[in-house]
Amino acid sequence: MKQLSSKHYLSETARSIKPSGIRKFFDLANEMEGVVSLGVGEPDFVTSWNICEAAYASMESGYTSYSANAGLLELRQEISAYLQKQFQLEYKAEKEIIVTTGASQAIDIAFRALVDPGDEVLIAEPGFVAYAPIVQLAGGTPAPVPTTAENHFKLTAEQLESHINEKTKMILLCFPNNPTGATLKREELEKLSTVIRRHDLLVLSDEIYAELSYDQSHCSIASLPEMAERTVVISGFSKAFAMTGWRLGYLAGPEPLLQAMLKIHQYTMMCAPTIAQHGALEALRNGREDVDKMVASYRRRRNYFVKASNRIGLPCHMPGGAFYAFPSIRETGLTSEQFAEQLLKEEKVAVVPGSVFGAGGEGYVRCSYAASMEALQTAIERIGRFVEKRL
Ligand code: PMP
Repeated sequence: MKQLSSKHYLSETARSIKPSGIRKFFDLANEMEGVVSLGVGEPDFVTSWNICEAAYASMESGYTSYSANAGLLELRQEISAYLQKQFQLEYKAEKEIIVTTGASQAIDIAFRALVDPGDEVLIAEPGFVAYAPIVQLAGGTPAPVPTTAENHFKLTAEQLESHINEKTKMILLCFPNNPTGATLKREELEKLSTVIRRHDLLVLSDEIYAELSYDQSHCSIASLPEMAERTVVISGFSKAFAMTGWRLGYLAGPEPLLQAMLKIHQYTMMCAPTIAQHGALEALRNGREDVDKMVASYRRRRNYFVKASNRIGLPCHMPGGAFYAFPSIRETGLTSEQFAEQLLKEEKVAVVPGSVFGAGGEGYVRCSYAASMEALQTAIERIGRFVEKRL
């Protein structure tokens, strides 16, 4: 087909956004045979059968139409009860919870409802690749706050304070973190919240990996004193319930903020997929045992992979959550992109260069250990051989 000149037709915003650095590696890896992939950020489990069955049953019963804009009330009630039980968070199903098309859409409508041109959004980095582009799409300015390996990639109050200026409106926090696996304890969150309150900032807290916390139970910043009114919690079903393809997440937060987000949601999405919402209802009602089993399995694989990574010469802190290890590759003398490219070509192991996750990511690679033990063992063997040649 003849191509129009994209210069004339594409918006400046579309042109200014870079494609995701992760995609490039997926595309390369997909073209090759025999690749062990530690690249993807999703569970290696399929969704539990009872959840699938509940979705089938909903279709058989004719629940194939739109739900309420904010999601099935029944599901919001379950989410409200779940957040209360697991994380001591109090949200009313009617006005303080919105079911979204994945946590991805939750992030999008939250920024669109809260950010004006000129507003700066602090983002603790290394961080999930979507935050900065979504802030830009919303017209805001992303402002990275780098975290460091010395501190196990935990954001400190000092780091936060030093990046606040008069344009700072809010901070995006994601703990347990993608890509570092870092988690924050209650005391650490308390220190951050003191700074956040002092500067009157809003918090967008992406807690999609909350269930995947291995050494202590997850603490939500919204559960700390005087934080609920300035925090919007984002979560979803993709990670804990192995439901990435169902595209279901949610927002929980103060009514005035959530109702503004609902306006955007009702015009741009109408509602999250109704069939998936019926599956999610079952996940919350009867999914606990399977979540616990999956968490135990990730914990075992984390312990194996991190120990093995240190053994083969890639120093790696023990991540407290999510399913990523973030070892240092500095000793090899390669950039993270060179490391990932050469490792894929020479040894057929796919990892993601740390540089794609923003400030502080160079010098590291992200390895997802949501892969079979056999795949992890093969990967370690191959990475070990690759590293040995360079040390
Ligand atoms: N937040 C983080 C930190 C993630 O890692 C991901 C998925 N990789 C998402 C949000 C998006 O999740 P969902 O599938 O619910 O859109």
